[in-house]
Amino acid sequence: MTLVNDAAPAVRSAGRKFRAFTAKHLDELTRRAGLGPAERLATRAVATVLPFRTNSYVLEELIDWSAAPDDPIYRLVFPLPDMLPADDVARLSDLLSRQAPKAEIEAAAHAVRMRLNPHPAGQMELNIPSFGDGKIPGLQHKYDETVLYFPKQGQTCHAYCTYCFRWAQFVGEPDLKMAGDDTAQLRDYILAHPEVTSILFTGGDAMIMGEPVLRRYIEPLLELEQLESIRIGTKSLAYWPQKFVTDPDAEAMLRLFEQVGEAGKNLAFMAHFTHPRELEPLVVTEAVRRIRDTGAIIRTQAPLIRTINDDPAVWNSMWRTQTRLGMVPYYMFVERDTGPQDYFAVPLAQAYEVFRTAYKDVAGLSRTVRGPSMSATPGKVCVDGVLELHGQKVFVLHFIQCRDSDLVGKPFFAKYDPEAVWLDDLKPAFTDTFPWQ
Ligand SMILES: *Cc1c(COP(=O)(O)O)cnc(C)c1O
Repeated sequence: MTLVNDAAPAVRSAGRKFRAFTAKHLDELTRRAGLGPAERLATRAVATVLPFRTNSYVLEELIDWSAAPDDPIYRLVFPLPDMLPADDVARLSDLLSRQAPKAEIEAAAHAVRMRLNPHPAGQMELNIPSFGDGKIPGLQHKYDETVLYFPKQGQTCHAYCTYCFRWAQFVGEPDLKMAGDDTAQLRDYILAHPEVTSILFTGGDAMIMGEPVLRRYIEPLLELEQLESIRIGTKSLAYWPQKFVTDPDAEAMLRLFEQVGEAGKNLAFMAHFTHPRELEPLVVTEAVRRIRDTGAIIRTQAPLIRTINDDPAVWNSMWRTQTRLGMVPYYMFVERDTGPQDYFAVPLAQAYEVFRTAYKDVAGLSRTVRGPSMSATPGKVCVDGVLELHGQKVFVLHFIQCRDSDLVGKPFFAKYDPEAVWLDDLKPAFTDTFPWQ
């Protein structure tokens, strides 16, 4: 129990009530970061398009204000003046500075959003299954074994990441929201699809829900024999670890995790960590220990983001610390083709180098991680390397997941392109079409 004693001061100081900060606090916070008036205005302009929300823990325990705005955690949560095309930012800044009517600002922001590919990889058209009377709100089913569910009460987060690929969910574009609250319908769908062995609660962040609400979603699933695992996608360990330590429902939540194990299923806690600093506070160590004590397995994942974690040392350090704390590194993702992708994208060739450089110097125990992986329309595509074959420089790739499961694990080739940032930028090598075309 020494761990608990050591952690006690940090836990107490972090044990305050959750307090969110939103766009209305931006001017005050960017002033603290040392930004001048024009940059503060441009930041607010970007925040009319993309969501902004953070909290007291991120502000006081994670951000290094002396290094802001270059600090990686600052960049992880704060809109940046140059994240969007300069003429868009100029137009929105102008509207804000002459205090244009709300509706006019919102219309201009909406127009910018629509040019940012708000729902990538055919999420709205291709992944939402029809069942019974029609589509099931909040359910996506892309790969045979796993359904994604977006519980209505889980469609926000303790803080938003600037690079979020689900950003469109959080900015009040009603027709872009995915969310469901009909647990009976979810159960019926799973029962009608015996190939489904795993359900992934996602959002938003499933851990924004209080225990009684999450229990209403999870409990009816515990008696479904076909389910082997219940997954929870969450950034709470990074943004609000108090959820498992000092929040009023902490004990009840951990008990719910335990019950998933008692029902013979694995509670797979899919933790999003972007930067090693998120692992430093002692309250995180304590939260990890408590979650693991329930029998849950914590797996870790994050995208590779320019100016935040595009450095092999950052990934090497994250994977080692995660493994030391008993977590299992799972995925390194490529930033998706949506929102401010132009700003955050790392070319695939460079992403592969970052991955390999970080991966070659960790113990085998951390080499459970896979990547860099693109969650693209046909599936999750991993960049395995770069080779010279028959006098041609090529990318070697494979599907980790695919709509067509026959293609999983089979290598394929694309012409090398140092600038390519996404699957759509690649051309097949040695053949006319890619295997899924
Ligand atoms: C990543 C993903 C999953 C889960 O894939 P795993 O490889 O099993 O982690 C399921 N559905 C969708 C749509 C996904 O993008």
